[in-house]
Amino acid sequence: MPDRGRLDAGATPGHRPQLVLQLRGGANVRGPKHYQHSIIRGVRLAEIAAELGPELPVLRRLYPEGVARLWGSTPTEQVNNDKARALRERKVGDHVLFYADKVFYARARILHLFRNQAVAKRVWQTDDEGQTWEHIMALGAIDQFTHAVPAEPILRQLGLRCPLRSLTLVNADEYDSILPLLPTLPSIGSPHGLPTRKRMGRKQFFRVLRQVLERSSEASPPDLPLAMLWAIGRAAAAAEPSSRTAETTTSLEAFLERHGGSNERSLLRPLVDSGLWDHERALNWEVDRSGFHGGRAPSAPDVVKSDLSAEAAALLADVDMRGRAVAILSRALTSDLDRATVLAQVGLAGYDSAAGTLEPDLLTPTGSGDPAERKLVTVDRIVRSSRYAKAVKRLYDHRCQICGVRLATRDGYYSEAAHIRGLGKPHDGTDDLSNLLCLCPNHHTQFDFFALYVDEKFTVRRTSDDSPISELRRHPQHHIDQNHLRHHRRFCGLPK
Ligand SMILES: [Zn+2]
Repeated sequence: MPDRGRLDAGATPGHRPQLVLQLRGGANVRGPKHYQHSIIRGVRLAEIAAELGPELPVLRRLYPEGVARLWGSTPTEQVNNDKARALRERKVGDHVLFYADKVFYARARILHLFRNQAVAKRVWQTDDEGQTWEHIMALGAIDQFTHAVPAEPILRQLGLRCPLRSLTLVNADEYDSILPLLPTLPSIGSPHGLPTRKRMGRKQFFRVLRQVLERSSEASPPDLPLAMLWAIGRAAAAAEPSSRTAETTTSLEAFLERHGGSNERSLLRPLVDSGLWDHERALNWEVDRSGFHGGRAPSAPDVVKSDLSAEAAALLADVDMRGRAVAILSRALTSDLDRATVLAQVGLAGYDSAAGTLEPDLLTPTGSGDPAERKLVTVDRIVRSSRYAKAVKRLYDHRCQICGVRLATRDGYYSEAAHIRGLGKPHDGTDDLSNLLCLCPNHHTQFDFFALYVDEKFTVRRTSDDSPISELRRHPQHHIDQNHLRHHRRFCGLPK
């Protein structure tokens, strides 16, 4: 890939970035508006696809989420002034310092440089002289300074006048000399020019996960949610070695390929940038591409290592957290993918159902414990044979706790005992009354497939929009464990 080198120029050992001092421009040239539009909000690649021409695939790789941060400069007829030199000598990997009204207020890293009049006209139109901002920089994450930095001392040290009058390039040595005057941004020198991250908590993890999914445009292949599910499957296998399947040692490449992913590693950059995936391991994909072509996971086959960042992996060691993450990711998958198959292939079988999966060897032996007999045991039989299942049905006289319906059959009334927290993996629920509900078959199905949930106040609600369906009927002798209901809600993708 010819542009990979450009993308990672900042990571090359010994590369020392220069600094581009960039005028934002005043209202007369629509500077604030342009900054808001093409830097803060970003430019949707789909809207400028035709004008981009051959640059389109390059930018798509740089901005997998489909939104680019672009800034342009008008051309100059001079050849030796500051602007001409800056336009000619600035490089990918250099940093850009945004200037307006005698302060510097933001910094970013150059990911790509190109000249394109059509794109510039489309994004920023033309100025009063009919010129447009056709020398374009594609920028990495923007480090917006918390406090604007006075420009005067910095410009003075660089031997420049304040106010700044022109696009100006500062060489690497000079840049080093003014670093003490700028906010410390250890991350700006990192390969991706990321803002510094705070420690990731549960809330932040889900916020970040949603952001990553929202930003991956509809048109993009399903790589992001698939890759995240794959990584969670490996995290689950690491947390519970007994649940590991052969598939959890499958390489990411093979998995993506099987489900229509584009298998373009740069598409996964938002996972790395957001702190969900491990930075070092992601870098290794790019440095050591043998793993990429060989179709094998870099780790030894008997060691399942997660690609998640340490923080994300620690959070997802908890089964409820995994359940919620899997629910959110499953919803992000396109409908043409068979979710149950996808989940099973990454070792997350059962995460799509409250009933879980019941493999014979995961069941508590019943009766004689004879292996042959155990093998024949199915979910239904276990539930039907359980004395607790009978008890819960008797308690409600076969009336559904959600709708009150009592289904008449030739042989009497029919109802189902639903485990709130399924038996077997991944729920590991208990077979007792506090974990059972008496439901009609319809509501049992909806409960198992997370279409509805029971909230803290025992109101039954639709998962899709939280709208209430009914109050859960409760018999005075039926103690329902709130912890089990909370577990079920997490697997619905809900926060609590
Ligand atoms: Zn019902």
